[in-house]
Amino acid sequence: MGKRKIDARRIKSHRNYTITEAAQLLGVHKNTISSWLREGLPHIRTPRPILILGHALKHFLNERREKARKPCPSGHLFCLKCRAPRRPAAHMLDYEPITPTSGNLKGICEACETFIYRRVALAKIGSIAPDCHVSFPQGQRRQITPDIKRTYDWS
Ligand SMILES: [Zn+2]
Repeated sequence: MGKRKIDARRIKSHRNYTITEAAQLLGVHKNTISSWLREGLPHIRTPRPILILGHALKHFLNERREKARKPCPSGHLFCLKCRAPRRPAAHMLDYEPITPTSGNLKGICEACETFIYRRVALAKIGSIAPDCHVSFPQGQRRQITPDIKRTYDWS
């Protein structure tokens, strides 16, 4: 898939879209919509099929564009409430695996105390959050490279 621009203005706020409909409307692959759902695009799961509210989709895409315009400096996660990159409170982050090689860093915004997330490649955590304490779920540790292991405190 090319980097074609997604036109959020095509979305009708008061309509619901299935994944297939949303993909057709925006000219993206269904897998792209599914990955947005995993990134936090709000949707209605029951009854099937999954439905995405038009206004939620618009909002999600606008925020995504804003995020892309304001890239997060290292050690920061984008706070949707503050609409800005923020430091995690107490430099504490949790890593939640999504795939074997990537996942979400989750922290609490130091300014407004809501959860902040950042999708990261496991191998890049060291450069994305160099001065943060990252907690990994049990069982994940074996997959951490020695390089990352040196960076963090494992207690
Ligand atoms: Zn915030």
